[in-house]
Amino acid sequence: MFFVTEACGDSQDRLERATETKQQVGFTMTSNLTLLTEDMAEFLAREKFHVMVSIDGDRESHDRHRVTVSGEGTYDTTVANLKLLVGKMRLHGTRLPKIRATMTAGNVDPVATEEHLRSLGTHLVEVGESHGTVNEQQDYDVGSKCEERMNSFNARIDSIIEQLEADPSVLPDVGNSLRKSLRKVHDEVTRKQAYSQARPTLCGVCRNMKAVTPEGDLFPCHRYVGMEAFKMGNIHTGGIQQDRVRDYYDALYTTYAEKCAPCWLRHLCGGQCPWYLSSEDGAISPPDDATCDDIRDGFEVLLGFYATLMSRFPEALASILGRPIPVEGKE
Ligand code: SF4
Ligand code: SF4
Repeated sequence: MFFVTEACGDSQDRLERATETKQQVGFTMTSNLTLLTEDMAEFLAREKFHVMVSIDGDRESHDRHRVTVSGEGTYDTTVANLKLLVGKMRLHGTRLPKIRATMTAGNVDPVATEEHLRSLGTHLVEVGESHGTVNEQQDYDVGSKCEERMNSFNARIDSIIEQLEADPSVLPDVGNSLRKSLRKVHDEVTRKQAYSQARPTLCGVCRNMKAVTPEGDLFPCHRYVGMEAFKMGNIHTGGIQQDRVRDYYDALYTTYAEKCAPCWLRHLCGGQCPWYLSSEDGAISPPDDATCDDIRDGFEVLLGFYATLMSRFPEALASILGRPIPVEGKE
């Protein structure tokens, strides 16, 4: 199934064309919902849109950056409209909207952020961080080695283990982000075949996604839009230029191969965000040490947590993962 980001044009035309070519097409969009009307919510739910909603946390965290042109916070409007949309999605049996939070320097508690957002009507929540790029950081970016964020993560894990120790039959609520991370570790730990070299998995940039501007210019992903050195073609003048995609990937893999090959985390990490490493002039820098240390510290805690669950609470781990846990001596 293909999902078209930021649907534009006539969706009916696209769906007819998809039927002719035997493709399945879906639509995704990202919005702060501040201009949502009841009719729009009905349309999005009826047409099965996957909607990503930007909410950065509680009112204080969100309104710190998400304001109207006159400077007023948008939290109340966004949350009210999210509830309207959730109601319509439930009526139409459509996948609930997903909240995407971006933590900034004023809010670096991923656990509290996720817990708050999951109380707003949808369990689908993803928490990321504002990072700037390897060459340019802003005051509001979350710096690497952020102690508060790490403390919050450690406290969350301690609390889950304490809950399991008190009653292993009651499954603690681990949240989506932690579950996804544990699944990633589990898949790697239980993988049968070893990789021979560093294998950055990347994010699909310029491979299973591209960003298209209103003028038809193609970029590796939405974050690259406007960085002329990374323009990959134009849909009106020949489409994607495969040689530019190849050069882009060559540069990325060369960078990763040099930096990641000696790193113990190379099979789990997947490399840093390619956009984060890219400069306006087209250069791609190697992953920076501070961010790499941060990534490794986080994974060390996660691996310890996974090992504790595997050795002491395997049934809880299987339930959290939604996957069977291999039993020693059995295939
Ligand atoms: S932590 Fe850094 S060096 Fe290690 S695999 Fe990830 S990006 Fe590469
Ligand atoms: S390059 Fe970075 S910003 Fe772009 S899709 Fe990948 S992870 Fe996201």
